[in-house]
Amino acid sequence: MERTLAIIKPDAVEQRLIGRIVARIEEAGFTIRAMRLEHLTKKEAEGFYAVHRERPFFGTLTDFMSSGPCVLMALEAPDAIRKWRALMGATDPAKADAGTLRREFGSSIERNATHGSDALETAAFELGYFFRGMEIR
Ligand code: ATP
Ligand code: MG
Repeated sequence: MERTLAIIKPDAVEQRLIGRIVARIEEAGFTIRAMRLEHLTKKEAEGFYAVHRERPFFGTLTDFMSSGPCVLMALEAPDAIRKWRALMGATDPAKADAGTLRREFGSSIERNATHGSDALETAAFELGYFFRGMEIR
């Protein structure tokens, strides 16, 4: 079993897409091990996306991520990290495959509806950032 951190981003929460996205997660066979709604502060968003602090989009990304509530989730499944990223689709919704969440619900490369950890190490950091104890499988 593997765990990954998933986020329903503020754009999708604002569009009342939580239920549809959670349904897709459950239909895909993930077990939701932890979940909460939280409006991140700018500082919390900056800490979460610290790996991107030198990128040109860091300011607008962290403004967006702190603009309204998110849904934070710890998802569990065999191969959860890869499987959740496949369900989300490519970062840019315009380039994401048909049937993926970002293609269906994202509106731009920044406002792309969902987040997923990209490797075991980042999953451990990201799960621990929001959920005490969840970083241990
Ligand atoms: P995430 O980490 O959110 O799951 P990702 O791993 O597909 O997405 P990253 O390269 O880690 O993509 O970028 C993190 C987030 O930063 C993206 O999800 C998106 O919201 C935003 N982002 C990425 N590239 C750009 C860009 N060129 N312009 C604006 N925002 C961007
Ligand atoms: Mg990423």
